[in-house]
Amino acid sequence: MTPQRHYLDHAATTPIRASARTAWLEASEQVGNPSSLHGAGRHARAIVEDARESVAASLGAHPTEVIFTSGATEANNLALASAHGPIVTTAAEHHSVLDPAKALGAVLVGVNANGIVDLAALTLEVPRAGLISIHWVNNETGAVQPVAQVVALAADAGVPVHSDAVQAVGHLDVGFAGSGLALMSVSAHKVGGPIGVGALLARRDISLTPLALGGGQQRGRSGTLDAPGAAAFAVALAEAVAERTGERERLAGLKARLVETLGHEVTSARATTSPHIVHLVIPGASAEAMLAALDLRGIEVSSGSACTAGIVDASHVLIAMGRSVEDAASALRISLGRTTTEADVDALNAALPDVVARARS
Ligand code: PMP
Repeated sequence: MTPQRHYLDHAATTPIRASARTAWLEASEQVGNPSSLHGAGRHARAIVEDARESVAASLGAHPTEVIFTSGATEANNLALASAHGPIVTTAAEHHSVLDPAKALGAVLVGVNANGIVDLAALTLEVPRAGLISIHWVNNETGAVQPVAQVVALAADAGVPVHSDAVQAVGHLDVGFAGSGLALMSVSAHKVGGPIGVGALLARRDISLTPLALGGGQQRGRSGTLDAPGAAAFAVALAEAVAERTGERERLAGLKARLVETLGHEVTSARATTSPHIVHLVIPGASAEAMLAALDLRGIEVSSGSACTAGIVDASHVLIAMGRSVEDAASALRISLGRTTTEADVDALNAALPDVVARARS
């Protein structure tokens, strides 16, 4: 008998919703390039435009502000490539912001010990900035950034702000128009949609600099419109937004249940964090060893450190928070989602003492 699996890595990806899968399959049965002018094309186009309207409604945006992409990685890259002038961002961004930012010569502002952006340092950079990019919720620690304050600071100087809202949309009240952001990135697979679909929201006064040249289908963003992907994303996002308030409370309860009994330093308890992420540093215990031992017991979590192509690297987020490389190698991220139950949390709580003891020996 295979042991019951306890999937606690929803920040990496969360299961696809049945409704999204159905929407994808239905749309995929329809032939037609959404840019073709015949009936089949128009039908496919209607699927995309309905999805665009739905995504816009879910995110408090106008449909023309929604540019479907191959995911948030592309959305983040497109946002940064579209900067007119120097980019200012934080040292704790996801690699899909950090790496293009570095390539474009961005200024990286530090974060405090809780992973929150240093607003004083940011303020000093604002007058020189062409674009500010700040994530909404950190994907490793769950730290919630003061996006509204950053927008206010930037507004005084007339600087547009981009936010990677991938980890926020499913859990916090995210509204594009209300946020004052010029650009915002979202990903379908973090809200129960398919992997490989996302969107960049771009205010209408923002001109985009395409990453790939071609048909220029969406405000210069090139590539055949993905009708099934867009349809599935729209359905997943609408459901996630409808459930958001209830889920936030439910996950906060599960998070409290987890944190209460963990008995380790819960880094994510030191700042305002999203209800879906619990981040731990367990000194002396190798994250890799803990991950493997938990996996053997059917419990799937993540090391706090960025794992790119299977290579575990010291987390730049924890380093930016002033933690040592040793601490960064002892970090666990447990992330909850809509399929998470008390049984999942209890299984982790039951397994962890032994797993930690072994990882330390
Ligand atoms: N930003 C953040 C904060 C993320 O967590 C992720 C997914 N790990 C991404 C961007 C990239 O999203 P996608 O997988 O859609 O490219």
